[in-house]
Amino acid sequence: MTAPAPAPAETGAVRAADRDTAAAESTKESAQESVQEGTRESANPLIATTAEGHHRILTGDRPTGPLHLGHYFGTLRNRVELQSRGLELMIVIPDYQAITDRDRADHPAEHAENLVLDYLAAGVDPERATIFTHSAVPALNQLMLPFLSLVSVAELSRNPTVKDEIAHSRQSAVSGLMFTYPVHQAADILFCKADLVPVGQDQLPHLEVTRTIARRFNDRYTALFPEPQALLSRAPLLLGTDGGKMSKSRGNAIALGADEDETARLLRGAVTDPDRHIDYDPVNRPGVSNLLLLTALCQDRDPRAVAEEIGNGGAALLKRTATEAVNEYLRPLRARRAELAADRTVLREVLRTGNARANAVADRTLGEVRAAMGTF
Ligand code: ATP
Ligand code: MG
Repeated sequence: MTAPAPAPAETGAVRAADRDTAAAESTKESAQESVQEGTRESANPLIATTAEGHHRILTGDRPTGPLHLGHYFGTLRNRVELQSRGLELMIVIPDYQAITDRDRADHPAEHAENLVLDYLAAGVDPERATIFTHSAVPALNQLMLPFLSLVSVAELSRNPTVKDEIAHSRQSAVSGLMFTYPVHQAADILFCKADLVPVGQDQLPHLEVTRTIARRFNDRYTALFPEPQALLSRAPLLLGTDGGKMSKSRGNAIALGADEDETARLLRGAVTDPDRHIDYDPVNRPGVSNLLLLTALCQDRDPRAVAEEIGNGGAALLKRTATEAVNEYLRPLRARRAELAADRTVLREVLRTGNARANAVADRTLGEVRAAMGTF
């Protein structure tokens, strides 16, 4: 199976622990911080140094819909880049997490297969990556029990991402799973002892839960787990067409697999502002700056240079520029996606193999946890 050429290396990715990791409480603050990331010019120190030793990367996406530009520029491009440098890549498709904010998962297996389609189209090498679903790995799920004992209810209830998700939830009552899924996520990461987690900004509070659980387990029992680091990209929080975080479940996303006309239509409807002069000002002009960042990411440029080029062209020219940039950048990925979509047995096989590999890893770790705790 030939993967497309690796995406160009992110130029601004940063290890979250190296900067202020306090997660922004409001979407506005997060969005502003996010687009500011796009101005970072430094070479990517983390990706450069991690290539030197053995690292295991774990990351994942809920099977709630197709992957979008936020996923691609937020984490997926980094995953492909790190894998192309020889790092071991695990991708969890957390199907149990699809029921954190809704009563029933809507076609989780079909969504999971479509996620595999997006991964392969984006350049993930399925021969080397382990792509698996939660529901198929019982030993991973069992880690949730001891891990729950390592965090307090107060810690769980002040998680800002959980609060934001509750605000957008489709449920009338908040379930226990909603409060505890960051612990489940700790099990996802620690079951395979991953030490590097490419994520978007919304995941930083969850990474802190994982780090806390690893530390407390190691202190209380035996040193077993690494304290994983988050890896943020230049776009840790890409905005959707409504100005909020681009999300599969919020009707504001541009899917990687969307066609060119649909991409144009969606970007035409993106929230901007009436000022005809286009400049890069993430704090005061988040909508405009988000489109500049998106264009810059596709063209491997600085968003301020894109703004200068547009000058007084207004939001309409900015949107046309962003549309052309996105469609051109994604053309090879979309062509590959269309080819791969012709044979879904390949997608199912990738999951079958990934689930078998993940089970072997989870069984081994659960054995170590039982020995450390003195249980059977
Ligand atoms: P849902 O609406 O179902 O929660 P989502 O779009 O938020 O879907 P997730 O599956 O929850 O996607 O997130 C998968 C990964 O993608 C996480 O690491 C998350 O931080 C990252 N991510 C999601 N949306 C964005 C975004 N807009 N910008 C950057 N990264 C993102
Ligand atoms: Mg989400």
